[in-house]
Amino acid sequence: MGQTMSDGRTDVVYLDYNATAPLRPEALEATLGALHCVGNASSVHHLGRDAASRVDTARRQLAELLTCTPGEIIFTSGATEANNLALRAAHARGGVFVTTAVEHPAVLEAAQAITMETPGSLVVLPVDKDGVVGLESLDEALRHHDVGVVSAMIANNETGVLTDLGPIVKAAHEAGALVHTDATQYVGRLHLDLNEVDVDLLSLSAHKFGGPQGVGALFVRRGVPLPHRPLLIGGGQERGWRAGTLNVAGIAGLGAAAQAARLQLKHEAARTTTLRDSLEQELISNVPGCWINGAPVPRLPGVTSVTFPGVPADAVLAAMPEVAASDGSACSSGAPSPSHVLIAMGRSREDADSTVRFSLGYATTECDIDRAVDATVRAVTYVRSVMAGPAKP
Ligand code: PMP
Repeated sequence: MGQTMSDGRTDVVYLDYNATAPLRPEALEATLGALHCVGNASSVHHLGRDAASRVDTARRQLAELLTCTPGEIIFTSGATEANNLALRAAHARGGVFVTTAVEHPAVLEAAQAITMETPGSLVVLPVDKDGVVGLESLDEALRHHDVGVVSAMIANNETGVLTDLGPIVKAAHEAGALVHTDATQYVGRLHLDLNEVDVDLLSLSAHKFGGPQGVGALFVRRGVPLPHRPLLIGGGQERGWRAGTLNVAGIAGLGAAAQAARLQLKHEAARTTTLRDSLEQELISNVPGCWINGAPVPRLPGVTSVTFPGVPADAVLAAMPEVAASDGSACSSGAPSPSHVLIAMGRSREDADSTVRFSLGYATTECDIDRAVDATVRAVTYVRSVMAGPAKP
């Protein structure tokens, strides 16, 4: 199904779900419903109570998706804020900060800023050629340092590569460290049960699973000894963790998207895996020399990171405006530096710059994949021919 783009153009194949997913109809309805009401969720009159009850509903819907309790959720403006909030508070316990080389900048740069005044208190774990964090490097960090917090993403935004958090959590907890995970790309896409995944802190953003942009949440496990270090101070909302009038409409949309994602999760995961696999097979069969980053290891269902060696990704994307995809991570597009994720996986700068990320989701169809394959094959062939220059007489 072609998605309607915000500039009014239709019939664009939208394969950029990791940048943002289209708003689910359920989320649109809940958001509009809340926008029509006037109350502040902190007011005691019935209009305020109506707003508060929409927030309560959303908190319960999100808790059901995560298998946690509503009281363990703090609503934020998104994963960036949730990451910053979590990491600042966790680091205030003291100790060395451990994270991985493939984190989103909302973790990596936050970690650098938070540890800036204590040189030597940040350890960044390397990954292998498939983007997987080695447990040996974590064990070594835990042996040599007094580690306060370990932050490891459960799914990578550029490659979709998954992290097996079980052994990381076990090792970190045995050493007395807290564990945070950036689950922004995972929540709503694969099953998550916070009774099984024993992390202390988890960040998410609504718009990655079909909710509105600009709203997210931080899960803080009950009983975790987390120093109270809010980023925003004032009104005491969210149990003093996030002051400011609640974004009731956004939160209502987040809740409705969480519920829809939970109910359709198994079906959507299976469907997007099949579509992603077919996209990869077609590209590999039709574009000589291309490869899939992280192909041999477990990945998110709907994401593929494809390198077309020697063919700049921005030129490929420009040559196929009918497909909306990303060169590397959309969050860093515009920045001159190559993808730090692919570089950490040992790719050259040239290969990193020749990599396109296609990310699929709940509304992607077989027809979208067929059109994307045709467009990509044509675009890569065209860019290669332009780069080869005119044939010599
Ligand atoms: N973490 C990851 C893994 C992400 O992919 C993103 C968004 N690209 C973020 C954090 C930040 O999310 P937001 O911009 O919604 O705050």
